[in-house]
Amino acid sequence: MEWTRMLHAQASRWTARGLDLLYPPRCPICRRETSVTDLGIESEPGSSSSAASRGLSSRGFYWAATVCGICTRELSADSGRCLRCGEAGGAVDGCRFCPQRPHGWRRIAVLSSYAGSLREAVLRAKRPAGDDVAAALASLIVRKHGESLISWGVDRVVPVPMHWLRRSIRGTSAADELSRRIACLLGRPHCRALVRHRATRMQNELPIADRPHNVQGAFRGRRRLDGERILLVDDVVTTGGTLSACCRALLAAGAATVDVAVVAKADRSSADD
Ligand SMILES: [Zn+2]
Ligand SMILES: [Zn+2]
Repeated sequence: MEWTRMLHAQASRWTARGLDLLYPPRCPICRRETSVTDLGIESEPGSSSSAASRGLSSRGFYWAATVCGICTRELSADSGRCLRCGEAGGAVDGCRFCPQRPHGWRRIAVLSSYAGSLREAVLRAKRPAGDDVAAALASLIVRKHGESLISWGVDRVVPVPMHWLRRSIRGTSAADELSRRIACLLGRPHCRALVRHRATRMQNELPIADRPHNVQGAFRGRRRLDGERILLVDDVVTTGGTLSACCRALLAAGAATVDVAVVAKADRSSADD
């Protein structure tokens, strides 16, 4: 009944405000004290046509809501990018750079440029204590591109894998945490479907021309993915060499399509790949 629904919604708001008073939440990016009832949320879960909220679980929406409005605007600021190659120049589905970027993926969702405060956030997300930052960045990707990600269709969310030795030294994998959170937000299974079976040199230590060879054949599927639509997730993309190598491994494992979601797109002079 309508009145019970309204009563339930009002009770939820009072509960949220009470929790705010007892345990004030903090934005994981800037650490400012903030409120779950005042975080740049366009609407409440399930009650609106907000593109990012459609199809997201209630737990997922909560995570989406923990980044403060200031950080959401600052980290999501971008002039718009081609959804095929990721180059800046307007939110278009195909641009003049696409033929020069023969990647294996179908579409790519980018939060913003790898610079300034977003670069700092990505570097924090790579540290062992940076899981909450990675989760926050994942929520911003879904907030910005939720409608596209849902319309592309995703059967599994897969991280770009880190070699086991590097992961044991670092203690964490940003791509893993990003993909886990995106999967949660989209309500799709998270799956470590790839393995980096050969240790590779850091892409940012190599000349751009040598990067494709460095990761060539470094990945393989851990399981069959026959006919599945995969969303591949990483933190930063520059030339796309790593992502392309992962796409080839996913398609070789039987995936029907591979789309990509990344936090940041770096210029070619930037440090990461
Ligand atoms: Zn913030
Ligand atoms: Zn393009």
